[in-house]
Amino acid sequence: MRTPTAVSLGALPSHVTIYEVGARDGLQNESTVVDVATKVEFIHRLIDSGLRNVELTSFVPASWVPQLADAEELLARLGPLSGRHPVLVPNERGLERALASGVREIAVFASATETFAQRNLNRTVRESLDAFAVVVARALAEGLAVRGYVSMCFGDPWEGDVAPDQVVDVARALLDMGCAELSLGDTIGVATPGAVARLLELLGERDVRVEQIAVHFHDTYGQALANTLAALERGVTTIDASAGGLGGCPFAGSATGNLATEDLVWQLHGLGIETGVDLEALCRTSLWMAQRLGRPSPSRTLNALAPTLTSSEREPVDSKKEDSHE
Ligand code: MG
Repeated sequence: MRTPTAVSLGALPSHVTIYEVGARDGLQNESTVVDVATKVEFIHRLIDSGLRNVELTSFVPASWVPQLADAEELLARLGPLSGRHPVLVPNERGLERALASGVREIAVFASATETFAQRNLNRTVRESLDAFAVVVARALAEGLAVRGYVSMCFGDPWEGDVAPDQVVDVARALLDMGCAELSLGDTIGVATPGAVARLLELLGERDVRVEQIAVHFHDTYGQALANTLAALERGVTTIDASAGGLGGCPFAGSATGNLATEDLVWQLHGLGIETGVDLEALCRTSLWMAQRLGRPSPSRTLNALAPTLTSSEREPVDSKKEDSHE
């Protein structure tokens, strides 16, 4: 399989942590509901490909997200995993369920805009932060780590452009309540690199350290990798991505355009940045999942590399490589 030629570019980080969201953000936005056994195999294969930060599922009510209604069973079947594996929790009830399943890290999902807070959480931004403060305090008391998502950081479908100060206020509030990491989400994919740089600069001015920041770009307008590079140039070393671009299939009505992990890995390895990910193993995993979903992946890298793999994602084209994977 072809691999990118590594050529460094200026003073970029030497290592990047990829935070894999395919099993949660990806599958929750797919129209096909995947069975629990397939999810278990998917997550094990992601970890085997070298991903050490894999968000597993969400403890939301089944009526909200039927795709993730099997959270308890999934965690029970997965058993102990190496690495860091948060679950999303929307409220105290979700936290109770996560604790009962032995979770060690959670993520909460705040909005930078009032309209999305109302639509997604049925609360104002302030009310939602107050509610999360209770969840985060309890999680910290239980010894859990907490990641805070901020959605709609650059644009909102109802409000248009989002003022960076508004994002910084929400980010600051999440850190102040005890979140260890922030994930800045370009939920509708409208950011361009200058906007990314501007937001990171403003966060720095409000004493948010770059080590506390992760970026979560969507490729809706083809800007995800350009935005990633802008973030790398400013020292961000945690980048969210979704294997095979799950959750962002252009053939599905729910297309949200998650940055595909394969596309990210191609860029990072091309820049000489270590990720610990075996790109071929990851591609095989995403092709396998695409087969189960019955539709092609939107990942450009995966589609470019797929013909160099065999029709069965498990069998390398080149028989000499037969024993080197899986
Ligand atoms: Mg996403």
